[in-house]
Amino acid sequence: MTLDLDFDRQHLWHPYTSMRTPLPVYPVESANGVRIKLTDGRELIDGMASWWCAVHGYNHPVLNAAVTQQLAKTAHVMFGGLTHQPAIDLGKRLLAITPPELTKVFFADSGSVAVEVAVKMALQYQQARCLPEKNKLLTVRGGYHGDTLGAMSVCDPETGMHSLFTGVLPKHFFAESPRCRFEDAWNEEYIAELYRILTQHRSEIAAVILEPIVQGAGGMKFYAPHYLRRLREICNENDVLLVFDEIATGFGRTGKLFAMEHAGVTADIACLGKALTGGYMTLSAVLCSDDVADTISSGRVPELMHGPTFMANPLACSAAIASIDLLLSTHWQHSVRNIEQIFKETFESVKNNPNVADVRVLGAIGVIEMKDRIDVARFQRQSVERGVWIRPFGKLIYLMPPYIIGENDLRHLAETATALAAGSKDLN
Ligand SMILES: *Cc1c(COP(=O)(O)O)cnc(C)c1O
Repeated sequence: MTLDLDFDRQHLWHPYTSMRTPLPVYPVESANGVRIKLTDGRELIDGMASWWCAVHGYNHPVLNAAVTQQLAKTAHVMFGGLTHQPAIDLGKRLLAITPPELTKVFFADSGSVAVEVAVKMALQYQQARCLPEKNKLLTVRGGYHGDTLGAMSVCDPETGMHSLFTGVLPKHFFAESPRCRFEDAWNEEYIAELYRILTQHRSEIAAVILEPIVQGAGGMKFYAPHYLRRLREICNENDVLLVFDEIATGFGRTGKLFAMEHAGVTADIACLGKALTGGYMTLSAVLCSDDVADTISSGRVPELMHGPTFMANPLACSAAIASIDLLLSTHWQHSVRNIEQIFKETFESVKNNPNVADVRVLGAIGVIEMKDRIDVARFQRQSVERGVWIRPFGKLIYLMPPYIIGENDLRHLAETATALAAGSKDLN
């Protein structure tokens, strides 16, 4: 099979690229398990889980069957005025596996849209309490919450390129990003700036939004669970909602089913996405507390003002149900711990390499931070030659394979990443 790559190059945008000088793309024939097969027959071990999503690998018989069965019934019906078994069953499962304080579910169509919905919930909540001046958000630098305008406004101002959209993006409050590493002992200094901004501006702030434990696309950093415990207290004391963006961290990636479990705290509003459908289809969910839902619903405008066309798409809900059941029926904690262990062992060899600034591992996430920006095209050519799919960004080589990856593939993946990191000046 050959693909019309000229058409692709001339007419199809790929993520974050120029249309004139796009990075090369590799044509995929199919994907199965942890292998992505290119049209020229080469097979690549997948180190990315398609951006956090494909936790069970590709072409999984259980997920395929779930979608096929639902397809024979209904691909889609509108959620306005109608409901269906997949939505109800998925809602039940999400409430069963998340903290009991979260009781209401809003299904949206992507992670970014979930963040938009969460922000609207927070704003409508404060309006319903007759506190309309509480209409700003507070977040930390180094965050990533999606690419739509509202979500972008709480992404890191530099990596999120706020300067491109000045005048359009709402201005929110930013505190320094959590400086403490995951394993660091607590020091109140770590949250001092956030505390100062929050107490000073509590009358203007509707909610704090951040990614629990792992700052993903904003820099792949892991911070101490106690940060979230203090944040929860500070939000309560200052009458500000707390929103957790678990879109990247949800469904086991950090070693807990949800990253907030590391801290034993919950949010008033939580966003789920990415691995929700096991990488099969786009779907997200916003969960909130009784207080948030009841307060909004008793407001002057009692409706939550959102309703995507493909809300609670039955195919996507069916994939999500099957994915969650499959996850819970496997020893996923064991798989994730095993990935963590092998990343830690393998990365040890490049820790002190002069090209490497830092290595860090949490759950099934491995990061090698280089001192210099990585030449993505060259790096990908080299890793594809070694039978591995890794997509670095900025200075970061990061790995987050499907949990089902076998030991040999895992070692080859991790060793390829370290070899490329170690030799990045000499290889071509
Ligand atoms: C990917 C991501 C999003 C955006 O999700 P999309 O489905 O790409 O819109 C939001 N928040 C976090 C933490 C993410 O990792």
